[in-house]
Amino acid sequence: MGDEIVRAITADGYVKATAITAKGIVERARNIHMLLPMATAALGRALMGASMMGDMLKEQNGSVTLQIKGGGPLGAVLAVSDCQGNVRGYVQNPHVELVEKYPGKLDVGAAVGQNGTLTVMKDIGLKEPYIGSIGLFSGEIADDLAMYFVESEQIPTACALGVLVGTDQSVTTAGGYLIQLLPGAGEEIISSIERGVQKVGSVSHALEGGLDGEGLLRAVLSEFSLEILEKHPVEYRCYCSRERVTRALISMGREELSSLLKEQGQAELTCQFCDRVYSYTREELGELLRGMS
Ligand SMILES: [Zn+2]
Repeated sequence: MGDEIVRAITADGYVKATAITAKGIVERARNIHMLLPMATAALGRALMGASMMGDMLKEQNGSVTLQIKGGGPLGAVLAVSDCQGNVRGYVQNPHVELVEKYPGKLDVGAAVGQNGTLTVMKDIGLKEPYIGSIGLFSGEIADDLAMYFVESEQIPTACALGVLVGTDQSVTTAGGYLIQLLPGAGEEIISSIERGVQKVGSVSHALEGGLDGEGLLRAVLSEFSLEILEKHPVEYRCYCSRERVTRALISMGREELSSLLKEQGQAELTCQFCDRVYSYTREELGELLRGMS
């Protein structure tokens, strides 16, 4: 089963919901960055959160960047989504040792850290991107995202994100959901959602038990009549190009570039989001330099 995003709304119009299944996306991230399990879980959660938020954008060519800096051993975690939920990302220190809450349960909050910020940048084609930032709540990422929506966008939100890593360190399951109240929703609606969240429990285990994204939403919102609005595939997608890398080289400035040319005679640049490598020969670097004068 490929990765996908499912969007739904309850028939009463009070609740909108998005779910993602992203085993392929998280496994691709693991392979690109050679992640160890702590980083796989943390970056995986961030990628899925960003993906669902990106998918909510109405603006074509919009993007959402999620940056989590918690002061923990993983360092910064960054995920970027396009407006269809295709994501890319990286984590500063991908080789952090395993921290478990109890055997088999990764302590993502400890690896991310709790003393820092979660920042959301939405680029919707305006001059300046929208930037919202909150103090981290738990470092578990799903809780922090829910808190972000409450504090920065005043939208009551329930969020769960889960990545299960197998004994061979590959991704067994990955998925999550975002459930948001629409204006007019009362206490009874909130209680119904809370009961559903409790009943389903761990998302990664629910997926392991055979649920897909739609199944996950139907399980959490079992007390509602649910209307599925859209389902579409999502993937790990990087938008790097030789042109962009060249621009980055030029922005290094004349001095830096000419010392690079002198010292190495050539340049090999790896994209920070994917495994693409861009090579520049002596002649190409020389030409760039000449173009800068
Ligand atoms: Zn790339």
